[in-house]
Amino acid sequence: MKNLERLIKTYYDFPKKGIAFKDIFGIIQDPEVFRELILKMSSNKVIKNSEAIISIEARGFIFGSAISLQTSKPMVVARKPGKLPGELLKENYSLEYGKGTLSVQKDSLEKFNSYAIVDDLLATGGTIECVANLIRKSGKRVSGSVTVIELMELNGRCRFDFPVESMLCM
Ligand code: AMP
Repeated sequence: MKNLERLIKTYYDFPKKGIAFKDIFGIIQDPEVFRELILKMSSNKVIKNSEAIISIEARGFIFGSAISLQTSKPMVVARKPGKLPGELLKENYSLEYGKGTLSVQKDSLEKFNSYAIVDDLLATGGTIECVANLIRKSGKRVSGSVTVIELMELNGRCRFDFPVESMLCM
């Protein structure tokens, strides 16, 4: 996708010194490119081999819900602390610039057998690994991960034993 990279802006030393932050919000300001991107994300085998999509707060929601609409696959969400009501499954993780916890509603994971994990960006892989652990602890299968960007030098994909699809390697 030749027009994708020019819509992604890099901010240096954000949110912490030493981080080159990739701002993806330019993509949704260009609906033509956004549509092309969603069609591409929706058509790969990770999505095809899943019963449902699980998207990660917050930027993962943008891409996950558009893929869900495009493919008619249901979507569930992994959220940060204090956002989800009901009985939750929780898991800690560390990411390129910090630590965190993600939760899913227990009953949302009971409904489907396999999940494609969707987020905006793969860096160290800690965030996606956290969601994969939540899925597997529930006895369910991970079909793989789909992200817009993959930061190649961090080699996050080496943590995973499932297919990793990224639309743009940087
Ligand atoms: P990681 O767990 O290290 O793979 O980090 C991935 C998560 O953190 C994603 O949800 C991204 O939104 C965010 N993230 C990590 N590094 C960056 C970066 N350089 N630019 C933008 N977002 C990032």
